[in-house]
Amino acid sequence: MKILRLILGDQLNMKHSWFNETNDSVLYCMFEMRQETDYVTHHIQKVIGFFAAMRQFSEDLKSKGHEVVYYKINGSKNTQNLTDNLSQLIEKNNIETFEYLEPDEYRLDQQLAEYCNSLSIKSSVFSTEHFYTKRYDLQTFFKGKKQYLMENFYRDMRKKHDILMHAGQPEGGKWNFDKSNRNKWKGDVEIPAYKLFKNKVDDIVSDIEKSKIKTIGEFDTKTFSYPISRAQALEQLKYFCEQLLIHFGDYQDAMHTDETYLFHSRLSFAMNLKLISAKDVVQSVLNYYRKHGEDIDISQVEGFIRQVIGWREYMRGMYWALMPEFKNQNQLKNQNKLPDFFWTGNTKMNCLKQAIDNSLENGYAHHIQRLMITGNYALLTETHPDEVDHWYLGIYVDAVEWVQLPNTRGMSQFADGGKIATKPYVSSASYINKMSNYCDSCHYNKNKKIGEDACPFNSLYWHFLDSKRPQLQDNFRMKMMYSVLDKMKTQDVDEIKKRAQHIINHQDEY
Ligand code: FAD
Ligand code: SF4
Repeated sequence: MKILRLILGDQLNMKHSWFNETNDSVLYCMFEMRQETDYVTHHIQKVIGFFAAMRQFSEDLKSKGHEVVYYKINGSKNTQNLTDNLSQLIEKNNIETFEYLEPDEYRLDQQLAEYCNSLSIKSSVFSTEHFYTKRYDLQTFFKGKKQYLMENFYRDMRKKHDILMHAGQPEGGKWNFDKSNRNKWKGDVEIPAYKLFKNKVDDIVSDIEKSKIKTIGEFDTKTFSYPISRAQALEQLKYFCEQLLIHFGDYQDAMHTDETYLFHSRLSFAMNLKLISAKDVVQSVLNYYRKHGEDIDISQVEGFIRQVIGWREYMRGMYWALMPEFKNQNQLKNQNKLPDFFWTGNTKMNCLKQAIDNSLENGYAHHIQRLMITGNYALLTETHPDEVDHWYLGIYVDAVEWVQLPNTRGMSQFADGGKIATKPYVSSASYINKMSNYCDSCHYNKNKKIGEDACPFNSLYWHFLDSKRPQLQDNFRMKMMYSVLDKMKTQDVDEIKKRAQHIINHQDEY
């Protein structure tokens, strides 16, 4: 009996039980396809990274004795479409059973489910064996509840998996050390050199050029710096534990003009391609902490674990609980376009310039840059969530829809009306100044709301609150800001709104 097994580009889990032993009747297949490179315009480094990791994975499988068919992007047999490629192989190899791993994207899940229905041979779907939770666990967990609070899910995960627990109680006496995780980085604590891999990818770059795939962003370094194999991902993880964990929580929300990654792990690309699992990451961090607990405060460890077993699993669960309607949500009825400077970094607003340049140069920005700089700005300028989604899904090397969409449309753009975030993540210059040194060298004055040199975020912030009053004023967490707005003089509010409207209408001039 001949079995065809599909491995998608973000399913590179070498520890999967499929690969425990070789089997002559199993043929694995992997495809680089225009179907995947063209559904949004991706960052050049994202395309390079996916292809590099896929090619490496197929070589590693072959060297372990598995039979693999691999279609490169310009391969002569490549139809550029997933199901056409599959049909071709099924026919040519007299395949009797088709097997695939659960896709994490709704789009691919639908495509493969429909395809299997149309097949005359048997088909089965298997778990990717990557996440802690199953697809619909979160939906079950929150069934009948009014709010889908991440914190409740996170505490349950800690208990269920016995992570940072002691005699049924949270280790360190608290579930959450968020309050101690909000320091500004002022250069006093040294940041170790970043661990950047030097993966040679000349052949991939030339294949991308030949195929004329449209991309955004830059690739000046000539080598791809994120991990592309399980071995490299484990190295990156080790480096994180030994060098960065010690201050991860302290500077989790900090931003600085001289520092791209601060104490962040840069593990999202490797995790999202499943080179390593969430369990690999959590276990390594916990093991390191158990051995070096005297040097590392629990707040650093808890802060990191929360991102992985809390936010990451929560976002995946929310995605599956809310799709497909989620993708069309726009409860704040925002309609504007993103300005051109999101693709060039050509703006006088220093915070945006820093976050966008970082994204264009590295296919990376850390969480607070994504949420409180670019996301904050897009929301304050009332940008249509489709525009925002396309940008985020394209620009980051780690962007896969199951994690990008709930973060962008839900958490950052509040387009779901508050299912994921309990209030919109918007701020004026004061928060940006509190967490970064961006305002120090900015063209604009962080303290002013109106006038030529006034920080755009200040007028946009109050304008946003005023214009979204019908949707937001009853939100308990917004009450304080609305009472401040209500105390402002009408004439001042009018002037602020006038300036904000000018900014919205002329974004590329700012
Ligand atoms: P670290 O700060 O070192 O965090 C460790 C790990 O925790 C990350 O690797 C990631 O796996 C996980 N994590 C942290 N925060 C989140 C979160 N909110 N949701 C899910 N996982 C999280 N992450 C993606 O992986 N892909 C995306 O497309 C993506 N889009 C985002 C869009 C917006 C608007 C926002 C606000 C956040 C987005 N995130 C996304 C979450 C987060 O910004 C990235 O996971 C993180 O910046 C990756 O860098 P790192 O590996 O250095 O993370
Ligand atoms: Fe950003 Fe305003 Fe600060 Fe400039 S002054 S960096 S625009 S917040």
